[in-house]
Amino acid sequence: MTDSNSEAPVKNGADRIELINENHDVLNAVRRLKTGDKSALAEAAGVSWPTLNKDIKKLENERAVQLIKNSDPGEYIYEVNPNYAYFIGMALANDSIKLSICDFAFHALTKGDLVERKFDHLHKHLSFNETGENKHVISFDIEPGLRAMMDKTNEVVGIFLAEKSESFNLLGITIAFPGYINYDSRMFAFSPHVQELSETHLDELVLPEMKKSLDERNIFLYFENDSESAAIFSKESLFLKESLFLSDDEELYALRNKKNVACIYISVGIGLGLVLNNELFRGGTNTAGEIGHILAPDFFNILTPTDEEKEDKDYYFEDGVKEENKKLPLCKCGRYDCLENKLKLDVFNTNNWGDFYKKTTPEKLRDFANTHKFRYRVLGEYISYMFNLLINLFNLDIIIISGRIVKNIEAMNKNHLELLKRTSALKLPSSACKCSISNNERAVLIGSAMAAYYRCGYKDQEDPINVRWLHT
Ligand SMILES: [Zn+2]
Repeated sequence: MTDSNSEAPVKNGADRIELINENHDVLNAVRRLKTGDKSALAEAAGVSWPTLNKDIKKLENERAVQLIKNSDPGEYIYEVNPNYAYFIGMALANDSIKLSICDFAFHALTKGDLVERKFDHLHKHLSFNETGENKHVISFDIEPGLRAMMDKTNEVVGIFLAEKSESFNLLGITIAFPGYINYDSRMFAFSPHVQELSETHLDELVLPEMKKSLDERNIFLYFENDSESAAIFSKESLFLKESLFLSDDEELYALRNKKNVACIYISVGIGLGLVLNNELFRGGTNTAGEIGHILAPDFFNILTPTDEEKEDKDYYFEDGVKEENKKLPLCKCGRYDCLENKLKLDVFNTNNWGDFYKKTTPEKLRDFANTHKFRYRVLGEYISYMFNLLINLFNLDIIIISGRIVKNIEAMNKNHLELLKRTSALKLPSSACKCSISNNERAVLIGSAMAAYYRCGYKDQEDPINVRWLHT
């Protein structure tokens, strides 16, 4: 592989952003196809062969793209130079800030990568997950309250600004959060699960002097909904063959050109991100996908328990109070009977995130299908209900489902989801739709880093960014 650092011409952030902005489609084609075939690249980028040839030459000269020898002897392929640009995806929660650093090839850096790339300051100040599949995830705990969240956000941004390595070409940071953003008033408009942020101005989160430093270095600061970030990742990662992201589902690569992808996240909240007709779907006021707050049937009462399930239904409350006394609390959306509220209460007897997390630890969830037979069936009905709605309405190609419920309940595997899907939606669209289980933390963090890349590529547009995929 060529050493991308040694001869690279000195480019400042503004030049890099301009180059990305002008060559977005060619860069995407190079990143996704990993080929030396210029005709294939021209087709994927939607340009003529001579244009592609000229653009590739320029990108090679600027060291944004490099020709490397593939492991297959004699075959040379174009790839993006990973060090050309870096993007950070951050996710705000009540009790933590998590983030990932992605390079230009959308590889999420691990601690080992920081050492290898000599990002010494980052290595010293960032603590990564040491175990598990999310070794690229950096976590910071935060105390409750908006002030603590703001302080920690500024501290984290400060760490990135203090990295002295010249090859750390940071171009953008996206801060993702659960809830929706009003880009006209630049407010966190509604955040039922990180309530401190509701009605907070976007510009309040990062201090003016910190923002000034970011601006001086041409580093974009962008804000995005977490489900939209996950949807960007879910579509984009279909192209990233041989990356760690597809280890759980190689066959998804075959679906990389599918145009309609939904990403459902089920945890304390229920999130939905949609890519429809190869475009991130936002709706009129950027609030599309609030599936958690649609009205839901009362499956707890509709379903009749079998003899085996009866005890689980009767002794719904842990203290043995029978289910007729069950009372719905008011959801932050203003309703009692929204899907999110009912699922949480009917299945887990909880209506707040602290209690929800206590009752849904991996240990408690693992055998949930056996220990809570009735409630597991109710959970399945709610998931079926979502499949029915999404598949029948949108004729989706792929549904990717994630979150602690699906991740931790052993019985909620691909086969069971396939069954729920088949029995709920119309036959033709249902059999055509592929269902897959994913890792939401990874999707949100890397997806928001990808959003920063797209933000940089569409710099002249108003927020929020339009993210489109060409048919390749
Ligand atoms: Zn609600």
